[in-house]
Amino acid sequence: MEDLIREMEEYAKINDVPIMQHEGIDFMCNFIKKNNIKNILEIGSAIGYSAIRMAKLNPNIKIVTVERDDIRYQKAVENIKKAKMENQITIIHGDALETVIDGEFDMLFIDAAKAQYIKFFERYEKNLVKNGYVITDNLKFHGFVEHRELVTSRNLRQLVTKIGKFVDYLKNRDDFETKFFDFGDGVGISRKK
Ligand code: SAH
Ligand code: MG
Repeated sequence: MEDLIREMEEYAKINDVPIMQHEGIDFMCNFIKKNNIKNILEIGSAIGYSAIRMAKLNPNIKIVTVERDDIRYQKAVENIKKAKMENQITIIHGDALETVIDGEFDMLFIDAAKAQYIKFFERYEKNLVKNGYVITDNLKFHGFVEHRELVTSRNLRQLVTKIGKFVDYLKNRDDFETKFFDFGDGVGISRKK
């Protein structure tokens, strides 16, 4: 298992797959353990790295994860099989803005296209149990969100603005309590009141 994890990290590095950073994934895994989270919906599987890391915390953890990219989806299927976690992880091939997912989850983990975070949040919050959590990754976006002046390209600036807007959106959702953490690329934890 540890070999597979290393192999995935290596693959991600070589192929520029933005898997969660060590600090961020460690923090999230501790959070899952501490809060006894068992049912997770993940938006953005990539190659299955975070799903496998979460599933291996406890055999009772079940994950549904969505990935739209063909190659990453195939790779994730392969990795989940290698990890022998087909019974714990269900991967859906499709665009999370179009897929309809049934069922209730203790936690929603949003780690896909950053410009669409509000849309993902609003599409899947109905799948959360009362007192469920939404975890969002990349809220610092390599530090650019705090330091917009460093961003010179127009496209990048638009993306950074969108992430900033999502952070404001979270702060304004009075029905959720959100805490922001500095780990990895910036992680938000929102608890449904
Ligand atoms: N959670 C993964 C990393 C995900 S990277 C890990 O830490 O291991 C973000 C992924 O989201 C990319 O693979 C991208 O293809 C996918 N993605 C982006 N927008 C999406 C959408 N609308 N629906 C499904 N997947 C999406
Ligand atoms: Mg991420």
